[in-house]
Amino acid sequence: MRRPLVTDIDDLVARLRAAFATGRARPLAWRREQLTRLRSLFTEHRGDIADALYADLRKPRADAFATEIDFPVREIDHTLHHLDGWLRPRPVSSGALAGLPDGSTALTQYDPLGTVLIIAPWNYPVQLLLVPLVGALAAGNTVVLKPSEVTPATSALMARLVPQYLDTRAVAVVEGGVPETTELLAQRWDHIFYTGNGTVGRIVMRAAAEHLTPVTLELGGKSPVFVDRDVDLARVAARLAAAKFRNAGQTCVAPDYVLTDPETAPALAAALGAAVEALFGPDPRSSQAYGRIVNERHFDRVAALLGSGTTAFGGQTDRADTYIAPTVLTGVKPDEPVMQEEIFGPVLPIVEVAGLDEAIAFINDRDKPLALYGFTENETTRRRLADETSSGGLGFGLPMAHLRVPELPFGGVGESGLGNYHGPHSLATFSHRKARLDVPLR
Ligand code: NAD
Repeated sequence: MRRPLVTDIDDLVARLRAAFATGRARPLAWRREQLTRLRSLFTEHRGDIADALYADLRKPRADAFATEIDFPVREIDHTLHHLDGWLRPRPVSSGALAGLPDGSTALTQYDPLGTVLIIAPWNYPVQLLLVPLVGALAAGNTVVLKPSEVTPATSALMARLVPQYLDTRAVAVVEGGVPETTELLAQRWDHIFYTGNGTVGRIVMRAAAEHLTPVTLELGGKSPVFVDRDVDLARVAARLAAAKFRNAGQTCVAPDYVLTDPETAPALAAALGAAVEALFGPDPRSSQAYGRIVNERHFDRVAALLGSGTTAFGGQTDRADTYIAPTVLTGVKPDEPVMQEEIFGPVLPIVEVAGLDEAIAFINDRDKPLALYGFTENETTRRRLADETSSGGLGFGLPMAHLRVPELPFGGVGESGLGNYHGPHSLATFSHRKARLDVPLR
């Protein structure tokens, strides 16, 4: 990887700004063409993308196809299908024009912002780089993409493929780590879209403040799950395990911990054991469906959390292979290490609470989560969880599925982030909603 020089970055941003100023990215036909080409990048390089993800994360091929290729392709298709409608100016109601001369009209229209920066993390290194790009292009911006250096094979692939498919005068990839990102952040941008941890999120927001640049911060945190008594535990465990242990637990919206009552906890742990075996067989280590921790630094961090509570099953590790078995911990106390930080690995603690009141109090005592999940048949319980807690998203019955609905805004609140995207919300994020009033001269 050739490290970009500071002057390269200055020149690059100046070039992209000039391209924006000439109106290159504005025509709807250009936007549609870029999105169509981006679609071809995915469909013509399925194997290359899956290979890079395997090299970086040992990501199972089926997962790579589903989450890093098919998901972005669906986002592109949905955007292409609706873009004309989403961009149509929205008139205000005539009642809002009272007091203005007859014949006055008022509307809002979406304007592109200019030149934007997208910074991606390593856990879904394709999806989290290119799905924001869909919105940035749909809105008519020029763009710099900064993939994560933690997944170097994927970063190199993105740097090679993006210029082959997209207009190089409007879209560029800058590879690198902290020094390069620091240089990028020193530039003036019209929007910065950052996905990753909250510590760097604060660095991004400070740098953006220097130029009054708006930011989207897609962060993480601990996403709780409430399991009610009297639910079908085999079904709950199957859905919970599939969400938690995908990508070896390295998913921002993965269930982080479970809150349930003392009678349900042991039965749920047993059902989770059966669900893990159904997913990965008796030895997950030899399963092609199970991934690895991204590197030794993250392995050490997650392995250090295994001492909390009692191990119901799992717990095996191999540092040389960055392998951590799918693990469930029971009887975990709130002050134990595993409950102090986002786990971001295949370890699921079960914390006992007396019931719904205590669960809601537990959730509200902590940072606002990126996602909150509930398994319950009870409508009052659903309503109380919806009305009495705050989280980026709320999902009943199937964890992580809410982000597959492009009409739902995906993002956090409080410590879990600022702003959102997907579908029409991406267009809004990467646009300015301009107010326009036309008063006749007559
Ligand atoms: P990471 O280490 O890849 O960092 C993310 C990006 O920040 C990288 O491109 C990196 O180069 C850059 N960066 C790192 N240090 C920097 C610095 N000092 N200055 C400037 N830039 C810097 O990824 P990560 O932060 O380990 O990602 C995991 C976190 O991201 C978890 O907390 C997870 O929950 C969160 N996440 C959130 C979402 C979401 O959509 N909300 C999605 C995935 C991950």
